[in-house]
Amino acid sequence: MATAYEAVIGLEVHAELETHSKMFCGCAVVDSTTAAPNTVVCPVCLGMPGMLPVINRRAIEYAMTVGLALHCHIAPVSQFARKSYFYPDLPKGYQISQYGLPLSLKGYLDIDLTDGGSKRIGVRRAHLEEDTGKSMHVGGTSLIDFNRSGVPLLEIVSEPDLRTPEEAENYARKLRAILQYLGVNNGDMSKGVLRFEANISVRPVGSNELRTRTEIKNLNSIRILVKASEYEISRQIRIYEQGGSIQQATLGWDDVRQVTVIQRVKENEDDYRYFPEPDLPLVEVGREWVDQVQSSLPELPDAKRERLIGLGLSHYEATVLVAEQAISQYFEAAVSAGAEPKKVANWVINDLFRRMNGAGLERDAVAQTHVTPERLAALIKLIDAGTISTNAARSVFQTMYDDGGDPAAIVAARGLAQVSDEGPIREKVRAVLDASPTEVARYAAGEEKVAKLLMGTVMHAIGKGGNPQVVQKVLIAELDARKAG
Ligand code: ADP
Ligand code: MG
Ligand code: ZN
Repeated sequence: MATAYEAVIGLEVHAELETHSKMFCGCAVVDSTTAAPNTVVCPVCLGMPGMLPVINRRAIEYAMTVGLALHCHIAPVSQFARKSYFYPDLPKGYQISQYGLPLSLKGYLDIDLTDGGSKRIGVRRAHLEEDTGKSMHVGGTSLIDFNRSGVPLLEIVSEPDLRTPEEAENYARKLRAILQYLGVNNGDMSKGVLRFEANISVRPVGSNELRTRTEIKNLNSIRILVKASEYEISRQIRIYEQGGSIQQATLGWDDVRQVTVIQRVKENEDDYRYFPEPDLPLVEVGREWVDQVQSSLPELPDAKRERLIGLGLSHYEATVLVAEQAISQYFEAAVSAGAEPKKVANWVINDLFRRMNGAGLERDAVAQTHVTPERLAALIKLIDAGTISTNAARSVFQTMYDDGGDPAAIVAARGLAQVSDEGPIREKVRAVLDASPTEVARYAAGEEKVAKLLMGTVMHAIGKGGNPQVVQKVLIAELDARKAG
């Protein structure tokens, strides 16, 4: 019988911290995709000889918020080390990185499974380091931008607890949301502020061994993380099935050919020649500081989900809405504007997401759509007030999504308001009944289905926009009155 294999996946996540200044100098942290290259640099982050780094306290605090949000132990004493390697984007010849004594240790993250359950994934460590410069290969030339050099970088390393690409995706999304909620990283993978690496091995189902792994670098979207992991898992299974063995290596993802490619055979730890950074003191974090950071943590996705469930949302709806900070903020803004939470959830998940998906918009681009939370709330209130039917509201929503505009104004301009006022409706009903003595008599004789026919006639007489609920109510009341009289 053929052996069944399972995957073992551990993720290493690099998150830039959005502090004002860099990790060890006063240079500003800027958007490295828009700032003019090499304009935010100084002798420290350019690695000039003799320059002394100074630890950014805010970066320590941001890193601590992440550690605490991931239920890590915060080390009272942590230490920076020198990780030596040569690369053009690293002018010092070493990267300052926490190594033997990282700031955060032994935490966990609960991921959401599609069946509604959850699974606890261990977080081995989260340590601070500095980002490197950025190389760009243009034609035959290589260019380097050092604006990114020295930006605080937090590396969050999971235990090898993930078993499928889907679990890896859920972990990545959840972690990204937590970083966003904490306000330490905007999660924009297209700008490289958040980067994932997947460590992957496979083993026979039922075994507990950790086999040789490969590490896929530079996965610059969650979609690619999933694709590359799927590919790598089948590649390794194929090799084992053919009696081969896996070579520990660093891989890249070739998105054109949709394959993983070996970049280099893995260096040993020793190659980095780690040793404590002599130019920096130990990082000492007192109990009071930890407590203070702990007590100032904002509401995180899991807590928010519970709160939304308390507002009447289903587990699924709440999970979807909290998964992306921009969406959860959108939701809350619509609710603050006075719309009922359950209705907002429905409109966001059914109508807004469908339009955004159709336009190829990511969820975090919700603020770019014309349908502001205030407009959505106004639309919902128009339905609640009986001013427009749900069908008309769908069409107003489409108009708002395409062209913007205030829902009340669209309703007015397009004459979509329903007639809900009983007075004019009763007049029409009476006129129709006066003109239909036969039907009225049949209804009085017990033929209730005649009401349906009359309903059509009345709706037609009112013209576009009669509120069917109100019309129905008035019609039956009038018919019953005539039957009784
Ligand atoms: P390194 O520091 O050399 O990258 P670590 O032991 O710190 O190695 O592990 C790095 C990542 O690889 C972690 O996320 C860990 O969970 C994962 N990992 C370790 N062993 C395996 C394995 N056999 N299969 C899959 N992932 C693994
Ligand atoms: Mg690694
Ligand atoms: Zn600098």
